[in-house]
Amino acid sequence: MSEYTFTKHASDTFSAGVWMFGRFLDRYATDGYGPPVEITDAIRTAASVGGIESLDLNYPFWGTGEVTVEAVRDALDETGLRALAITPEIYTREFRAGSFTNPDGKVRRRALDLIERATEVGHELGVDYMKIWPGQDGFDYPLQTDPRRLWELSVDGMQKIAAPHPSMPFAIEYKPKEPRTHMFFSDAARTLLAIDDIALDNVGVLIDFGHSLYAGESPAAAADLCLARGRLIDIDLNDNFRSWDDDMTVGSVHILETIEFLLTLKNAGWQKAWKLDQFPFREDPVEAARASIRTVQAMLRLLDRIDLEQLEAARERQDALAAQSFLHELLLGEPVDAS
Ligand code: FE
Ligand code: FE
Repeated sequence: MSEYTFTKHASDTFSAGVWMFGRFLDRYATDGYGPPVEITDAIRTAASVGGIESLDLNYPFWGTGEVTVEAVRDALDETGLRALAITPEIYTREFRAGSFTNPDGKVRRRALDLIERATEVGHELGVDYMKIWPGQDGFDYPLQTDPRRLWELSVDGMQKIAAPHPSMPFAIEYKPKEPRTHMFFSDAARTLLAIDDIALDNVGVLIDFGHSLYAGESPAAAADLCLARGRLIDIDLNDNFRSWDDDMTVGSVHILETIEFLLTLKNAGWQKAWKLDQFPFREDPVEAARASIRTVQAMLRLLDRIDLEQLEAARERQDALAAQSFLHELLLGEPVDAS
């Protein structure tokens, strides 16, 4: 079990991925769902939400021409926001055949170099952790790859980036598919198993609630699995219909499972800012962030009203109807007398 302890922050604050306030593209609206946005402007938009205290920043920083660390630091200082994490972009065109697992050793090297440069920027900005999402690592077709080789390359890549920076946590964000039909770090158990092989105290997991749903998991059980091993570095909150990474507002579809997820974290003494990761393609991103913040705050107030002893007793008996009735009463009000 990891002895590593991660920086703690007040639990009534929020953080977000800066991409929530950027430009969205998909394979249909290839002209984008809005005009191009500079990362420094996205930082200012994030600040206008109110309640967001820190940001996960993509690196290289997006914008027309080179956007320097100083420009990003100035935008953060100006808005009073903090850099929470850096996400190196190891999933762009250059890495379309993979980053850690690219069949070309030169491309693998470039991915490691990019993460190293991003980590130096992370140290400069004082981030809490590096977020690693090897979105292009995996396979699309049967017979395309040797699973053992992908495992070796992924473990080796993570060791190479994390070992030189023992004071910096590296959080692997798993997701079952998209853009590959099968992504390498696909679910919580597989990621934890790889982390066992990586065997470094500063490597852990970021659970994206939507990715966990998409992977067919119970997000609460996935969180518990990572917490029990001391490997949960952060979480992303959002929602979807379980068949795609829709990145919708928190609680828009899976209210009960979101509450169960928050309860699991709260019971474990979770003290970090609640992190949002959404893609509001057709909604106003500021309003979509505010909607999620309001929902999470309402859910946290609801958790304060749950009779935990009663809930625990129901769980001890594995009494599904009793456990659900607490939540339904709190959510829907007192049952109406039908007599
Ligand atoms: Fe995410
Ligand atoms: Fe996602």
